[in-house]
Amino acid sequence: MRMMTLLLIPVFCFMSQAVAHDPNDDGPPWLQVEKFDQADSFRQLEELLPTPTEARLASGAPGPRYWQQQVDHDIDVRIDSENHRLFGSETITYHNHSPHTLTYLWLQLDQNRFRDDGRGRLSETGGPGESEGFGWMRRISLQKEFEGGFNIRKVADASGNDLPHTIVETMMRIDLPEALGPGGTFIFSIDWDHYIVNADVIRARGGYEWFKETGNAIYEIAQWFPRLCAYTDVDGWHNKQFVGSGEFTLEFGDYQVRITAPDTFVVASTGMLQNGSDVLTDTQQTRFNESIDSDRPIFVITPEEAKENEKRVASGTKTWKYNAENVRDFAFAASPKFIWDSMGVAIEGKSERTLAMSYYPNEGEPLWSKYSTHAVAHTLECYSHFTIPYPYPVAISVNGPVGGMEYPMICFNGPRPEEDGTYSKRTKYGLIGVVIHEVGHNWFPMVINSDERQWTWMDEGLNTFVQFLTEQLWEEKYPARRGEARNISDFMTSERQVPIMTNSESLLQFGNNAYAKPATALNILRESILGRELFDFAFKEYAKRWAFHRPQPADLFRTLEDASGVDLDWFWRGWFYSTDHADVAIERVVEFSLEKGNPDIDKPARKEDRDGDPEWITRQRNKEISKRTERFPELLDFYNSFDELDVTEKDRRDYERFLEELEDDEAELLKTPWHFYVVRFRNFGGLVMPIPIEITYEDGHTEMVRIPAEVWRRNNRIAARMFVTEQPVTRFEVDPLFEIADADRSNNIFPPEMGRERFRLERDRDRDNPMRDAQEWREGKETEISARRFAKKLVEEIRADLSGFARPVRAVLRIAEEFPPELVTDPWGNRFELATSTGDPDRPEGQIAVLRSDGPDQEAATEDDIRFVIFKDGKIERKSGGSKKP
Ligand SMILES: [Zn+2]
Repeated sequence: MRMMTLLLIPVFCFMSQAVAHDPNDDGPPWLQVEKFDQADSFRQLEELLPTPTEARLASGAPGPRYWQQQVDHDIDVRIDSENHRLFGSETITYHNHSPHTLTYLWLQLDQNRFRDDGRGRLSETGGPGESEGFGWMRRISLQKEFEGGFNIRKVADASGNDLPHTIVETMMRIDLPEALGPGGTFIFSIDWDHYIVNADVIRARGGYEWFKETGNAIYEIAQWFPRLCAYTDVDGWHNKQFVGSGEFTLEFGDYQVRITAPDTFVVASTGMLQNGSDVLTDTQQTRFNESIDSDRPIFVITPEEAKENEKRVASGTKTWKYNAENVRDFAFAASPKFIWDSMGVAIEGKSERTLAMSYYPNEGEPLWSKYSTHAVAHTLECYSHFTIPYPYPVAISVNGPVGGMEYPMICFNGPRPEEDGTYSKRTKYGLIGVVIHEVGHNWFPMVINSDERQWTWMDEGLNTFVQFLTEQLWEEKYPARRGEARNISDFMTSERQVPIMTNSESLLQFGNNAYAKPATALNILRESILGRELFDFAFKEYAKRWAFHRPQPADLFRTLEDASGVDLDWFWRGWFYSTDHADVAIERVVEFSLEKGNPDIDKPARKEDRDGDPEWITRQRNKEISKRTERFPELLDFYNSFDELDVTEKDRRDYERFLEELEDDEAELLKTPWHFYVVRFRNFGGLVMPIPIEITYEDGHTEMVRIPAEVWRRNNRIAARMFVTEQPVTRFEVDPLFEIADADRSNNIFPPEMGRERFRLERDRDRDNPMRDAQEWREGKETEISARRFAKKLVEEIRADLSGFARPVRAVLRIAEEFPPELVTDPWGNRFELATSTGDPDRPEGQIAVLRSDGPDQEAATEDDIRFVIFKDGKIERKSGGSKKP
C-alpha cells in the first residue's frame, strides 16, 4: 500500500506543475467535470416506445396474438383511351381476422386527392417563386380544370342490394347490414370510374403521358380502385387522409384482375399473366418462355416491332388477365409503344427462377435495353441476400411519365436518354439507381408492410439503405447519392430540420430526412457499431419476422437489439429522435512520463523542465536594474541558494529504501518501457457516437482503435481516454475513414494541421448599373455626332479637292491636317486619330479611312475605344469596343 502511494504521488506532482494551469478547468485536465444538466443520452427508450403486447413482443417480433386483416379483390377494368378515363367494377371479399366485431368498413379513395375540395389541396402552402417555368402555370391551370376523383356509381352487397356509404374526402365508410364478427367474411362490390391524371403536368404516382408525334400514350395506372383502409392492432381503422406525402397503409390479399384495352396495347401488371395465348402472338410467347432460362435480357417485343405496333390502328379490344397472391396493392401499365424484354434470375433460397422484365418505348432507347432489366435482376439478387428471398414470380420496370414509384412486382421509372440517343452520366446512374430503388420497394414496404402514411422513413430509409449496399455491388466506385456517412453531415448541421421520428406529412427536407439519414444511420450501424456480421444477421431477422406482417418503428428498434445482443437505445435516441449531429474533436493530448523514483534522474529532469521555460517578461526587463540584495548582500540567506530540485542525501536514502521494499513484480513494473497518452475528446455535435481513432507511431506505422460510444456515458460532452503504447505516438486522427458523419473534420487531428483549400481569381463582373449605361449611351452618341461631322467634312473636302477620289489616300491625311480643332476633337477633348487603311488587304470595299476616339477613359487601345469606318460614298459605320489601334 505504501509503495503505491509513493508511485502515485510523483505523478500528481508532475501534473500540478506542468499542465494543470488552465483556469477554466475545475478538475484534472483529462476529465473536466461539468455541471450535470445534460440529458442522459444512454437512457433507455421505454418511456418513448409503446408498451409491448402479446401481439407485438418486447423482443420486437410479432407475438402469438398478432393478427391482420385480409382483403381479396376481383376486378374488371377498362381503359378509355379516347378520354383518358378508367371504368371499373370490383368485388371485394373482406376477411375479419381481428378479434373485434366491426359495424362498418372504411375504404380509401386515393383519386379524390385530385379533387379541388380535398384536404390536400386546401392545405397546400406557399406560392410562386420570383420566376416559374411554364410547367408550373400549366399545372396550376390543369389542377383547376381537371375533374379528378372517383365517381362511385354503385356500392352493393353480394345480393346486389345497395349499401349505405359516406364519402369523407379520400375515404369512404360503408355501413354493414349486420355486424361482422371475428373470423367473419363480408363480400361486396363497387362500380366506379375516374379520369386519369396527366402525369406530365401534375406530379402524381400514376397517370398518362401523351406523345404528340405518335399520337398515343403510355398509361401507368395506380391508386386506381377503391380499396380497404387498414384495420390494425395499433390504430384501429387507419384514419389519416391521403394528403400527398404520406403514402399508403394497406392490407394483404389476393387479386384477379381483367384489364381491357385497345388491341394494339401491351399491358404490364402486378401478378402473372393468365391468358398469354389470347393476348400474345406465338412468337412473343416463345420468346417469353425462352427468357426464363436466359441470364441476359431477351426481347419479347423488339424495338422495331414496337415501332410498327404503335402505328397500327386498334380494331377492337383485348382483355389481359393477371392474378397476384398475397400483395398489398395492384398496379399496371399499358401502351401500344412498349418494347418488352425479359430474363430469368436464380435467387438464393428459391428453387424457381424469377422473371426480371422491362417495358419501355423507343424513346427510352438505347439506355433501357442496356440497363433496366439488368438493374431489376441485380436488385432481386442483392436484396434477397440481405433480407429474404424475393417471394413473387416476377419483377417489372416500366418507363413512362412517373419519375419513380413502386408497386408490388411492378414499378415506374422515368429517366430517358436525349432524343439523339446520347445520355449524361447523371441519366445513366439515375436510371440504374431508380430501378434498384423502386424494385427494392418490393421488400420495403410491399412485403415488410410498414405504415407509409405514418412513417416515410420505415420504407424509404430502409430501402435506400439496401439500395446503397446493392449499388456498391453493381460496380467499383458506384456514385451512390445516399448512404455514405460523409454525405449526410451538411443536412445534419442544417437549420430546417426535424427528427426522423416525425409523421410523413410534417417532414422538412423530405429526401434527406426520410431517405438519406436513416439509410446512413443503418450503414454506420453496420460498418462501425455492430460490424457486418452482427448487423446483417439482425437486419435479416427483422425482414424475416415482419415479412407479410405490419412492423412499427419499435419493432425494428427492438429486433435489431434483440438479434444483435447490443443495446442501441442511445443510437435510436440520437439518430431517430433528435436532430443532433456528430462532431467529435480532439481537444488536447497529454503525454505522461513515468518517473522511476531515482532522485538523481528525476530531479535533474524536472529541473530541466522548469529551467527550460523562458524567463517571464518583467524579470527579463528588470535584469539591468540593481536589486536591494545586491546593495545589501547581508539580506541573502539559506533559501537564496537552496533549490528544492537539488538532490539531497535524504532523497537518495529514501530511494534505496523504496527499492529494497519493492516486490519483484513491482520492480519489473517500474522498468516499463511504455508510453502514456491521455487524449481528451469533446463532443461538439451532441450526438454520442463511437470514436474511430487512428494512431501513428514514431516509425510511421498506424493502428486503428474503435472506442465504443459508451465512452460518453457519464459525460455526453467530454471524454478522456488513456492510450498505453510501446512506441512514441506522433499523431492521432479521429474518423480517418469517414465513418461517423463527423461534421467538422478540422478538429480531428492532433497535433493540428493547417487546413488546405484552393481558390481562384476571376475577373470583376460587370454589375448592373443603369446610371452608367445611360451615361455611356450619351457619350457614345456624342462621339458619333462629332465623328460624323468630321467624316462628313472630310468627304466633302476630298470631293471638292480631287473631284472623284483619284488618289484619296494621301489626300485624306492632308485635308484633315487643316481642319479646325473643334472639328477633330472627341467629346472628351482629345483629337480623333485618323488612319488610312492602305496597309489592310482585307479592308472592305470602298473604305478610305478609320477614325478612332480613345473613349471615356482617354486611353488608347482599351475596351471603350470607339472606331468609325469612313467609306468613299460618305457613309460612316460605327465599330466600338475592344479595338486595337487602327
Ligand atoms: Zn422510395
